Amino acid sequence: MYPDRVVSGMRPTGALHLGHYHGALKNWVRLQSELPCLFFVADWHALTTHYDDPSQIETSTWDMLIDWLAAGVDPSQATLFIQSRVPEHAELHLLLSMATPLGWLERVPTYKDQQEKLADRDLATYGFLGYPLLQAADVLIYRASQVPVGDDQVPHVEMMREIARRFNHLYGKEKGFEEKAQEAVKKLGSKRAKLYNELRTQFQQEGSEDALGQAKAMLDDAQNLSMIDRERLFGFLEGSRKLILTEPQALLTESSRLPGLDGQKMSKSYGNAIALREDKDVVTKKIRTMPTDPARVRRTDPGNPDKCPVWQFHVVYTDDATREWVTKGCRSAGIGCLECKQPVIDAIIKEQEPMHERAQQYLDDPSLVRAIVADGCDHARKLAQDTMRDVREAMGLSYN
Ligand code: SF4
Repeated sequence: MYPDRVVSGMRPTGALHLGHYHGALKNWVRLQSELPCLFFVADWHALTTHYDDPSQIETSTWDMLIDWLAAGVDPSQATLFIQSRVPEHAELHLLLSMATPLGWLERVPTYKDQQEKLADRDLATYGFLGYPLLQAADVLIYRASQVPVGDDQVPHVEMMREIARRFNHLYGKEKGFEEKAQEAVKKLGSKRAKLYNELRTQFQQEGSEDALGQAKAMLDDAQNLSMIDRERLFGFLEGSRKLILTEPQALLTESSRLPGLDGQKMSKSYGNAIALREDKDVVTKKIRTMPTDPARVRRTDPGNPDKCPVWQFHVVYTDDATREWVTKGCRSAGIGCLECKQPVIDAIIKEQEPMHERAQQYLDDPSLVRAIVADGCDHARKLAQDTMRDVREAMGLSYN
């Protein structure tokens, strides 16, 4: 199999907020030390919905990159790049579009949802319909094994898998594949070759997933195979096709959902957000003035944390003992709301201190961010070009 790789992107929406941090970035920071990760600014995606006003894209891109770095995304561990600087994404998008049934795109749940939500925009465009396919190209071009997503994005990953499968089925036919695969089987050595053939038969004749799993594990361990032979043997296990594109898995992330100050989804446009690098005094003011359980009109009125947006912040930011203190104190009117909010204020300020420090060096010298991105784009492009060589060849466009 191709090496494990994680790919994830974010649209350039400008300065990020704590909802982005707890919903995605914190998870990126964890993943980067576990697997090779590629994180990209999805600037073309921004154009799918904001094609009529691209004025903010460039500034937002650099602001967002500084936020990523501030949050702890580490360029020595992960590759950071900008989608439009790797034009191979567009080429793969175009080539995939040739064989992607229109219905697959029309039935993506977010297609109609977004059109309804963004009713003030004319999204009856070719680019908007095709954005899940561009997303598929973003991931498939790196042969990513995993894509970190929330529940709502699972259908997109499912579609990426279908697209990869269809591509392999249509274009994985290699001249003399059967013979080349048989040659590759021999390279496993006689014992392993015998086992491979047995497991392949068990899978193909009886549909044994166990046998398939065992055979895949054996191929993963086989040191003496070239990458291309390994892929042939993976393809041969399941049929008579080479696996050119990898089917990625959705990596469901257990991220904490931090709502906005009013309990709705945190969003800059709703005016209920705390920026990732918010000033301390602003954090204090925002939390001190955020709404609480509406039943607590006076200090002496008991409240209910379940009806209070501050409680959601406690869930993310404070420990069990503090939460117990809140629950008891709120329900018995033993504590006041300002008192209750203080541990949240302290925790946010503490969380943001290192972010401010990390961001400062990039604000002082923006060329550092430019250099990180230039390196990231180079690295991403090399990986993308490897895949595109195989894709072009498979689609009869290699002209060697
Ligand atoms: S005491 Fe805390 S949980 Fe209760 S209403 Fe006030 S802010 Fe909300």
